[in-house]
Amino acid sequence: MPDVRETPLLVIGGGPGGYPAALHAADHGLKVTLVDEGAKLGGVCLNRGCIPSKALLHTAKIIREAHEMANYGVSFSDPQIDLAKLRAFVQEKVVSKLTSGIGQLTKGRGVDVVKGRAVFTSPNTVEVTGEQPQTIRFQNCIIATGSLPVVPKPWQIGDERVMDSTAALLLPDIPKKLLVIGGGYIGLELGSVYAALGSKVTVVEALERILFMADKDLVDPLEKRLRTEFEAIYTSTKVMGLEATAEGIAVKLEGKDVPASLTFDRVLVSVGRRPNSAGIGLDKAGVNANEKGYIPIDKQRRTNVPHIYAIGDVGEEPALAHKATAEARVAVEVILGEPAEWNPRAIPAVIFTDPEIAWAGITQQEADKQNIPYEALTFPWAASGRAVSIARTEGRTKMLVDPESKRVLGVGIVGAGAGEMIAEGVLAIEMGAIARDVLESIHPHPTLSETVMESAELAYGAATHMAKPRKR
Ligand code: FAD
Repeated sequence: MPDVRETPLLVIGGGPGGYPAALHAADHGLKVTLVDEGAKLGGVCLNRGCIPSKALLHTAKIIREAHEMANYGVSFSDPQIDLAKLRAFVQEKVVSKLTSGIGQLTKGRGVDVVKGRAVFTSPNTVEVTGEQPQTIRFQNCIIATGSLPVVPKPWQIGDERVMDSTAALLLPDIPKKLLVIGGGYIGLELGSVYAALGSKVTVVEALERILFMADKDLVDPLEKRLRTEFEAIYTSTKVMGLEATAEGIAVKLEGKDVPASLTFDRVLVSVGRRPNSAGIGLDKAGVNANEKGYIPIDKQRRTNVPHIYAIGDVGEEPALAHKATAEARVAVEVILGEPAEWNPRAIPAVIFTDPEIAWAGITQQEADKQNIPYEALTFPWAASGRAVSIARTEGRTKMLVDPESKRVLGVGIVGAGAGEMIAEGVLAIEMGAIARDVLESIHPHPTLSETVMESAELAYGAATHMAKPRKR
């Protein structure tokens, strides 16, 4: 091994920002070195985020659906849960399969993968410690070091019954009573998993409502369902302290109509994530980070040091895997000398609860806040043949259009499979489609996707399958 490895492009971090950047650059003939300190490539998303959580949510969905079929004449006995086997499915059949796939992709593209932690020692060098220690000198660098879960200091009581999302995904056991602190998407997704496995789940959210970033009318059907599946959802409620006792974790609460104290077998803290930018020697490279730890970047994803780029969770919000991957393409194309820039009209967001919530483009609450004129066209799934046939009529599809031009500004969906459906909304917004473009694109019948077409139809007076309001 040379004392100093020279590389035209160094990528730090092998998550959904870093590894696609390395692959894309290699595909275009750049010699790339990818450094990651994790045991396996794939970052948070593949190892302890998107992928394991979705494998567990799939399991939870099947448990719930099997149970619900009793209402329609087919009864199954209660599920027998073999936790060791379920864990093995998630970790070996899903996570390991995908992470080793990334290993093969990087190998196939000739990317040099270095295992270890990279810390900048100058604007053109990093020192790698760990499994493969070395010095790397680079011409360009992409920082894709991601983010870490936040567990506020007072809740760090040194008891393994207080978990972050990483620990919860490892399914240590099925607690009888689980408290989820934080009514964001990670807390609700994992809460749904544990509820389906048999835990009595309580959610505490400091804000007035769960999932504050999503439109309320989209959250309502989910909240209604979660209130039947969870023990309790306390909003406008603060956790004032955690204490480890022999009986469990005693939790002090403060809020209206909330017990002052409750005890749980486990507590999941899911109150947010912070950019992983501390301790990587940014000062030695001359790269700025703001007070929250995010690395400010321009439209080319450049930091203040022109040959150093930042993408993914460490750069700017939203912290989503597909946003990191899309930024990777921009940064690499800029490095290749192409006139690329980050300018998406729609970054989709999906909450993989049941029902799912998904949106793209502007939300109604954002449009209100920014005084953007819009027409909101909502198609209730009770009028969808497909939704009726799968007994999922609680959903709704909402399209926001410009009142004059009818250009699609945003799409929001709540309902079974909303996450798969939102891609049509993204395409419509990116292509600058008007509602008629969506309406005149023939959608297959009977599918839930027809609800997107019918919401577009509302821009021109009425939707075929929706009762027209009676004229007085
Ligand atoms: P990361 O995935 O965080 O990867 C960073 C990598 O950098 C890591 O592998 C780390 O080991 C490495 N690293 C860090 N510092 C160094 C260093 N100094 N040297 C070497 N290596 C280093 N997003 C979605 O879009 N959809 C979802 O459904 C979804 N579900 C989620 C569920 C959970 C429970 C969690 C926690 C997150 C979820 N996310 C989801 C968010 C998603 O995981 C992140 O947005 C995404 O992983 C960010 O990618 P990234 O490349 O920026 O960083």
